[in-house]
Amino acid sequence: MGGFFAVASKDDCVQDLFYGTDYHSHLGTKRGGLVVMSGESMSRGIHNIENAQFRSKFEDDILEFHGRSGIGVISDTDSQPLLINSHLGQYGIVTVAKINNMKSLIDQAFRNRRAHFSEMSGGSISPTELVATLINHGDTFEEGLRYAQETIDGSCSILLLTEKGIYAARDFFGRTPIIIGRKKNAFCATFETCAFYNLDYELHHELGPAEVVLLTAEGIQTVLPAIDQLRICSFHWIYYGYPASSYEGINVESTRYRCGIALARRDNVKVDMVAGIPDSGSAHALGYAHETKLPYGRPFVKYTPTWPRSFMPQNQNIRDLVARMKLIPIRDLIHGKRLLFCEDSIVRGTQLKDTIRRLFDLGAREIHMRPACPPLIHGCRFLNFSQSRSELDLAGRRAIAAMENDAETVPPVYSDPDSDQYGNMVERICDELNLTTLQYQRLPDMVQAIGLPKDKLCTYCWDGKG
Ligand code: SF4
Repeated sequence: MGGFFAVASKDDCVQDLFYGTDYHSHLGTKRGGLVVMSGESMSRGIHNIENAQFRSKFEDDILEFHGRSGIGVISDTDSQPLLINSHLGQYGIVTVAKINNMKSLIDQAFRNRRAHFSEMSGGSISPTELVATLINHGDTFEEGLRYAQETIDGSCSILLLTEKGIYAARDFFGRTPIIIGRKKNAFCATFETCAFYNLDYELHHELGPAEVVLLTAEGIQTVLPAIDQLRICSFHWIYYGYPASSYEGINVESTRYRCGIALARRDNVKVDMVAGIPDSGSAHALGYAHETKLPYGRPFVKYTPTWPRSFMPQNQNIRDLVARMKLIPIRDLIHGKRLLFCEDSIVRGTQLKDTIRRLFDLGAREIHMRPACPPLIHGCRFLNFSQSRSELDLAGRRAIAAMENDAETVPPVYSDPDSDQYGNMVERICDELNLTTLQYQRLPDMVQAIGLPKDKLCTYCWDGKG
């Protein structure tokens, strides 16, 4: 998916920018980038972070960087930040975007404006450069940003580093968050509020959908108002958000805990131990164990000192290998036991199948799985949530395709947990994974655990309503 961070300060901003951006490292695996404004000039660094952490790549750069405002990005798509010179002046840009209508926007730019694109990533036009082209369509940054927000199908949140200050523009439907922090001499804009605490920022303002603010060391000014159409991605709380972060004022860890409680309230299975598939499954499992008063344990530990994170390595084989090498089972806690695992979600199920096989090999008597969200049956249209090319990669979708003998259509009945079709789908997934039992979270329970009205959340993955 990706994430970004910005600072406008009365003092040098580089340390805050460096650590603030680093706190988004769990959101992307491809490129990290920083740009800092010093007087009228900008210093920029971009590094490949596929095999090494952001911090280690930028440690030398930041010794050279000085300035009072800057923007940083962890990107899962293209190399960023880009430096643009246009009629709007010189500016730096970072985006977190999924642009479904790239082709038609590019065709339009060639046709109407005779634009050209110079930044290529993997043989394709850079989405960030395309967004800059849309912004340059306006007579002002404000006009250009609104034009980009309204034109892009998918999602796009943007930071622009300009001479006037930093523009932060939240996605039109607020699929991703932007939150403003404040401290004595500085303001920051972030995806993850976990970046606030150790850098001494306090929550100042959360942008609404489509809202654009101009950030300076003196404060923030809303230059384009929010629109009442929030559809924030539910997965921020369930899976990829950092536990210490909050969005819309709702903390991630607490939500996961409530998800576990909700799972437990609909369950009566007898087990010896409740555990989470690390890391995000752990908080769901703690909630489950607390509610049932069953012992919580860690039959798996994660080995993280040397392995880079495995959110979305581009190559599936590498992703599977990294996931396996990081997860080390503890035989004493597994042999002869009836184990219940909470997991954030079941996407493809491939890694999970391997994990379950290893648990049985180590002598587990029973393995019960309790995912914190319903079966995923639609591929994400709005964020780069999964790099899967086909919806049939989803375990739920595969089961439906096999039952319906149709790979394209998903009858809505598969989103109804009380229907026979839903029951059959879950049974198929359970058999495929070789589980003792499988019981998914119900969508209303997940929505209640998050605590926002359903119409403010994107739940497209589960019920096709985005
Ligand atoms: S489709 Fe799923 S992953 Fe994508 S924004 Fe909606 S809830 Fe989030």
